[in-house]
Amino acid sequence: MRMYDIIEKKKNNQKLSKEEIEYWVMGYVNNKIPDYQVASLLMAICFNGLDDEELTNLTMTMASSGEQVDLSSINGKKVDKHSSGGVGDKTTLIVAPIAAACGCKVAKMSGRGLGYTGGTIDKLESIEGYNTAIPRDKFIKQVNDIGISLIGQSGNLTPADKKIYALRDVTATVESIPLIASSIMSKKIAAGSDYIVLDVKMGSGAFMKNLETAKELAQKMVNIGKLAKRNTMAVITNMDVPLGENIGNSLEVIESIDILNGKGPKDLLEVSIALATSMVMLCKNIPEEEAKNEVIKVINNGEAFNKLKEVVKAQSGNVSWIEDTSKFPKAKFKIGVKSPKTGYIKSMQTENIGKVACKLGAGRETKEDTIDYSAGIKILKKTSEFVTEGDIIAILYTNKEEKLDEATKDYLNALEFTNEEQDKPKLIYEIIS
Ligand code: URA
Repeated sequence: MRMYDIIEKKKNNQKLSKEEIEYWVMGYVNNKIPDYQVASLLMAICFNGLDDEELTNLTMTMASSGEQVDLSSINGKKVDKHSSGGVGDKTTLIVAPIAAACGCKVAKMSGRGLGYTGGTIDKLESIEGYNTAIPRDKFIKQVNDIGISLIGQSGNLTPADKKIYALRDVTATVESIPLIASSIMSKKIAAGSDYIVLDVKMGSGAFMKNLETAKELAQKMVNIGKLAKRNTMAVITNMDVPLGENIGNSLEVIESIDILNGKGPKDLLEVSIALATSMVMLCKNIPEEEAKNEVIKVINNGEAFNKLKEVVKAQSGNVSWIEDTSKFPKAKFKIGVKSPKTGYIKSMQTENIGKVACKLGAGRETKEDTIDYSAGIKILKKTSEFVTEGDIIAILYTNKEEKLDEATKDYLNALEFTNEEQDKPKLIYEIIS
């Protein structure tokens, strides 16, 4: 077999066999096929796509390219959740403790921030002492003991995805439905849970910019889940506007704690309830209404908040920070962004707002960058809200004072204003199961 012939086949929009897919994926993982040939194939896939059989073969080959986590020694049903990536998206910190408080087992491996999108592991590491790298036997024991563990992905989970993703990131081949579907589902299958809930983000801060493509991605991932015998649901949610009112690691942890204490912004609460309900429905095999009631009950009676404290304690985090969020270190500098106009906010370019947060220090601009956990943005006015010229519409937090002017300009450039009243953006577009 020759890589050249595989590239040419896909260039001519022909179907690749299982053997050909295994050949290029494993050849790439084992450093037998160079970056430039794989980059060329990825671009051909971007243009010509993959059919369902090719997509399943690619996903399963990637899933088995490294370690496959065996969760069979955990008693009970295991449920996982994954977001396709967004801005202000802190739902894992909320829905994982909720699902565990409802009796599901949550053995979750999460990622770090990527580009303008944040990552759960960076957020958790903003809690003093929280250890995201506990050994596998302790991880399993903790899920058996308290129903939940939240850790980083182990080094050898889906090495094929790690290599292919890094190459896609620099060859303009990230935004391809089959490539995103195989990347996400290979990790979820290798991570070993029985049930999977996918949060497919749609809008200006997501890879999928419209409902049609978001639905296609969601449906393909649900199909892969079924074929791999993992019951999978997808919830398509709004990412035309940042989720909640805070972007940045400690700010997002604090906002998640607020939600678990019955406070916090309504949009974040609604999306979190929808995702947690799907997790509980799948895991306990109960109707939606019953699952939703359980979810609301564990928020209201404090059991979900206690579950968050339990997981933080079990992973050596300082629980007193969860009980008193004023203990999270604050950024040295903050500035209020003033509205230049009177009127309604028509739109927010959410990807650009995510980039502003990165600029302030909340994300990495290169892989080597360190994160400033206290940096970020508090959004005071969002799409459809009325503002008067001079109102403070956001607060920027940073330890890099020199970034404040540019960040303020970029933030305002990401907003569009209008004199016409605007409808509130829809939060949940569709649920696919
Ligand atoms: N998230 C992933 O894990 N992979 C992608 O390709 C896109 C988003």
